[in-house]
Amino acid sequence: MRLIFATQNQNKSKEINSLVGEPFEVLSLSDIKCNDDIEETGLTLKENATIKARHIYLTYHYNCFADDTGLIVEALNGEPGVHSARYAGEQKNDNENIALLLKNMADKPNRKARFETVICLMLDGIAYYFTGVLDGKIINEPLGDKGFGYDPIFMPDGYDITLAQMTLVQKNRISHRAKAFEELARFLKQLNS
Ligand code: IMP
Repeated sequence: MRLIFATQNQNKSKEINSLVGEPFEVLSLSDIKCNDDIEETGLTLKENATIKARHIYLTYHYNCFADDTGLIVEALNGEPGVHSARYAGEQKNDNENIALLLKNMADKPNRKARFETVICLMLDGIAYYFTGVLDGKIINEPLGDKGFGYDPIFMPDGYDITLAQMTLVQKNRISHRAKAFEELARFLKQLNS
């Protein structure tokens, strides 16, 4: 079964392809020549994932799925959340996002935070949801140069290194995204058994 992953990132679609395996074939938006600018206007990660998946399903009539991820910081009432990519502005700059977050956290003793990924799968017009969470804390200054986004200031529970100090293999073993995609892969495999 062919499934479209609502992402322009072919690495992400290759990764999920290897997780789900046959008879599923996961294609990215560039594989179907889709350059649509899908506006993420939702107030939650679930809404944004749904907006993206529904757009592809209604426009291209393919079964599909979309993901949305955010960093949820307890002391900031859940911010940056759905605004994670653009926290410090439209330029979506990782260093500026980190600097703003650390500034807003300067006087906060509660450092608890979590990454959350929500996937919306649209199968024959019905939406199914899968979630992956990684709990941790925001440290006081960036550490490490791997990864992306907020990785240098996020230390997962049970570790004394940040996500940016882990190899990709290590990060993928515990990450919010990996957990959500494993849930999706499990569901798809069950469909086929
Ligand atoms: P997206 O929904 O995967 O595009 O993620 C939205 C934003 O959340 C990204 O632009 C990053 O700022 C942040 N983010 C998502 N996943 C991660 C991660 O694994 N590590 C650090 N930051 C992340």
